[in-house]
Amino acid sequence: KQGHVSSSRNSTASYDPARFNSRPVRENAVFAILVRNGELGSLVESLKQLEEKFNKRFHYPYVLLNEQPFTEEFKAGIKEVVSGKVEFGLIPSEHWSYPAWIDQEKARLARVAMKNVIYGGSEPYRHMCRFNSGFFYRHHLLDQYDWYWRVEPGVKFPCIIPYDPFRFMRENNKLYGYTITIKEFKETIPTLWKTTQNFMRENSDTLASPNMLEFVEKVNGAEVEYNGCHFWSNFEVASLNFLRSEVYNKYFDYLDQAGGFFYERWGDAPVHSLGVAMFMDKSQVHWFDDIGYFHGPLWNCPKGEMHKKLQCDCLEKKSIEKENQNWSCINEFNALPNIPGTTSNKVIWP
Ligand code: GDP
Ligand code: MN
Repeated sequence: KQGHVSSSRNSTASYDPARFNSRPVRENAVFAILVRNGELGSLVESLKQLEEKFNKRFHYPYVLLNEQPFTEEFKAGIKEVVSGKVEFGLIPSEHWSYPAWIDQEKARLARVAMKNVIYGGSEPYRHMCRFNSGFFYRHHLLDQYDWYWRVEPGVKFPCIIPYDPFRFMRENNKLYGYTITIKEFKETIPTLWKTTQNFMRENSDTLASPNMLEFVEKVNGAEVEYNGCHFWSNFEVASLNFLRSEVYNKYFDYLDQAGGFFYERWGDAPVHSLGVAMFMDKSQVHWFDDIGYFHGPLWNCPKGEMHKKLQCDCLEKKSIEKENQNWSCINEFNALPNIPGTTSNKVIWP
């Protein structure tokens, strides 16, 4: 099952094994999944779909992470449904606890005050968001990989995915791929933008040029505000090396010092996206409009010819950018000036 090892990164165009061999060559990539023992059933359902629609042809490996030890039952249940190697990792407590500079009483009061906001009262949710923002890519089980595909329990893959998204990313010099982009609930991030602006002022040399800041900015008189646009991070096909970069970690550390993961409820989605907006140009970011995806309550459903060809089990009109144009940020993304890039043909596997 796992006979092929990726070596294509350094291969030249003259001989591309994936075009001639009977099996695809894998990229140096992994599914990265943060999950609790109690979510076994819903993760199994998601992985069955992911395997059937994609990974049964590729056998990409999995890394599952948890701040508590995975049970034997959990591990056995996952091994039953995956076609690639799977490893189970424990999160080090430094990556899932309060840093010394956080006032925990202030954090508790902030949770009480935010009781009416979704997850606003939850302490574990905050550790989760901070972990996904600044730590998951430092877990030793991910050290060997260049690319990750984030998966969560309960998500659905309603269409065939007949090509390798990782390969598409590498061949086209992409660093960040998404399926759904929407506007954040402002109540969860009162000072995230101010803090990010301060970071940019103090570290203007770190910004990409061109960058994608127009994607997240809204001009209001003399003020530049955050429009809330971000890529939904429950699905990401992206570069681990981007997250490991000095600039991204400088940004994460700056946010972490400010304390908003605990005093507010900063999500990893806007944090990743603001990082992407500062440090990438548009050609490095890709909307996978041909990957059908559901994470409650939103869909990305391929349309037109693609919908038929990929045998999608979703409704085109339910795709977020059709159903709720005000909440979707696809127009903001498409409005960014195009940067010349490449688009190779996708190699389709039967
Ligand atoms: P939502 O997508 O914002 O509604 O949040 P989820 O409940 O889906 O959590 C996001 C991801 O983190 C999912 O993969 C969850 O399984 C995982 N997760 C959330 N909280 C915890 C936690 O306390 N421990 C662990 N191990 N995983 C968590
Ligand atoms: Mn979720």
